[in-house]
Amino acid sequence: MKDNPDKIETDALAALEQVSDEGSLRAWYAAHLAKKSPLLMLLGDLGKLPKERRAEVGKRANEVKTALETAHAARQVELQAADLERVLEQERVDISLPGRRVPLGRLHPATQTLHEITAIWRDMGFQVYRSRDVETDARNFELLNMPAYHPARDQWDTFYTTTPGVLLRTHTSPGQIHVMRERAPDPIRVILPGMCYRYEQISARSEIQFNQVEGLAVGRNITFADLKGTLNAFARRMFGEDVQTRFRAAHFPFTEPSAEMDIECFVCGGAGCAVCKSTGWLEILGSGMVHPTVLRNGGYDPQFHSGFAFGMGPERLTMLKHRIEDIRYFWANDLRFLEQF
Ligand SMILES: [Zn+2]
Repeated sequence: MKDNPDKIETDALAALEQVSDEGSLRAWYAAHLAKKSPLLMLLGDLGKLPKERRAEVGKRANEVKTALETAHAARQVELQAADLERVLEQERVDISLPGRRVPLGRLHPATQTLHEITAIWRDMGFQVYRSRDVETDARNFELLNMPAYHPARDQWDTFYTTTPGVLLRTHTSPGQIHVMRERAPDPIRVILPGMCYRYEQISARSEIQFNQVEGLAVGRNITFADLKGTLNAFARRMFGEDVQTRFRAAHFPFTEPSAEMDIECFVCGGAGCAVCKSTGWLEILGSGMVHPTVLRNGGYDPQFHSGFAFGMGPERLTMLKHRIEDIRYFWANDLRFLEQF
């Protein structure tokens, strides 16, 4: 039996049918084609066979060896293909899932309003003049007609540096002194946007830092009518062609006369609501004719030169526009707020 190559082949091929993975294929190879397998034993022991059978059995055994090796190789390819199929099935990626969205940044709501304001004044021929955040007491107060004893200083407490007389500006107005001294006696038409600082209790209505946009026009024969006309033109561009405005007398140390400008409440149309505190009007800016002392400090002769100035807060305008009730949202860095703009 042991020397029957046909029987060896039949058994081996039958066993190969049962092989289902690489492990059992290796075991099959050890059993049927390795050194101690019946076939190789047979080939090794050919010399022990009777002489007349030796050639025939030898030839047949070698044929069987080739056949088994071929069958083994074929089975190996089959198993690898099946394995690949299984891996592809198990590790399939669902390409129909939506991709991961790249988070896009955007401009801060106050910056968006600032850009809107800047664009309007640019169209009206005003240049942007950048001025420093850190100022001297002289430029922030004294040269703007607020000497050390002036009671108005109480409204503008700020942060002081360790260098005496150097502070964080409380308004953009010191920029007026910078630009006037730089350009005098030429005419000026600029806006001065930037961050301002106040040493204040933080509340829904006041923050320790906020943006301001100051405007300044200096030249000959500039009158209060120019101030009103220019600010009305701004209001129409900012809030719509039909906006109603009014000027109320006010007081600022650096302008004379001074006025605050209101627009008709766009929430209630003037009827009175919570946003306008039942007055029907919303204050949007402060303004006035540049005080002669300030003109003189800037290098202009008030006998020949005059000018107007105004200041508004982008945060306040943003709050009015979007009915935001708490100014603290602006610097709280809360994405739930910021993502709405
Ligand atoms: Zn209202």
